[in-house]
Amino acid sequence: MTKYNFYAGPAILPKEVMAKAAESVVDFGGMGLSILEISHRSKEVAEVMTKAVSLTKELLGIGDEFEVLFLQGGASSQFYMTAMNMLGAFESAGFVDTGAWSKKAITETMAFGHVNTLASSKDKNYNYIPKGYDIPSDLKYLHITSNNTIFGTQFHDFPDTEVPLICDASSEIFSRPMDMSKFGILYAGAQKNLGPSGVTLVVINKEFLKKQARETPTMLNYNTHVKKESAFNTPPVFPIYVSMLTLEWIKANGGLAAMADRNAEKAKLLYDEIDRNSLFEGAAATEDRSLMNVCFLPKNEDHTSAFIEKCAEAGCIGVKGHRSVGGFRASIYNAMPKEGVETLVKVMKDFESANG
Ligand SMILES: *Cc1c(COP(=O)(O)O)cnc(C)c1O
Repeated sequence: MTKYNFYAGPAILPKEVMAKAAESVVDFGGMGLSILEISHRSKEVAEVMTKAVSLTKELLGIGDEFEVLFLQGGASSQFYMTAMNMLGAFESAGFVDTGAWSKKAITETMAFGHVNTLASSKDKNYNYIPKGYDIPSDLKYLHITSNNTIFGTQFHDFPDTEVPLICDASSEIFSRPMDMSKFGILYAGAQKNLGPSGVTLVVINKEFLKKQARETPTMLNYNTHVKKESAFNTPPVFPIYVSMLTLEWIKANGGLAAMADRNAEKAKLLYDEIDRNSLFEGAAATEDRSLMNVCFLPKNEDHTSAFIEKCAEAGCIGVKGHRSVGGFRASIYNAMPKEGVETLVKVMKDFESANG
């Protein structure tokens, strides 16, 4: 039986990418050596790094006004690295608090400067994206979490401001075109929509980086990694290689505009069924629904475990909701085929017939 992986992260990757990655573990590019054992200073690995950077730029539609880094420490390290590098002790960073990941970024930032939380959706357990708040023009930057993996909400429009945005795009990077001119820094842990865990993509506007606020330990300084092209120390070669394969797959499949179309189609299939089916309801405000993490609730809580069982029987794995929302979460990242969503929709229909 075909298995469909709906886990939020680490998450589904394209089958073709997995096959090439597996091959490279045994024999990388006909070298007769595994990618796991070759030097990060070898010409072969240098080519992988260069290609990963150039594909990132090509797909995001950016040029030399941006630096592209592949760092370790997860998106969680960017919560403090952004602030440590960019926020002076007497400067203010704005935040839109849209859930658990925003909260963590806020907490880390408080160690380095002033935090101004402009808006929060905490009053409704983060089931919507705040709108209509003022953005002071003297902020050093405004931090947002563009897709909220846990609560299933997404910024479909970015805040309208001249203040540079710092964006945690971990669970939606490369899922749609973005206006990169708004961003000072865009970062994403790879393991949601790009590659395996162990590497974090960080895209930094060069002009923004010139406004660095303080000296930092060497490894935590963006400029260290800019100067050494993400190879100051041993980089996570394998996760970067797999990310590069995913970027090639995205390009071969039409780039970000094509990803956005496919993702919208898949999300519509699922949300339409959630809205139609008498046993389920959507968790997030309709206009802010995430196209990546679809959160929905049973109208009768007694149905929770029975439905998850039916999903598993049909090959749909990882549909259990996060504990802070409950119910169900179907993560339908770039690599989720339409058939996976169709299979889940069929389970929902059958479940209604049997239990409605
Ligand atoms: C998963 C996730 C993180 C945490 O990523 P790590 O790489 O595990 O540190 C941060 N932000 C968002 C939006 C996430 O989905």
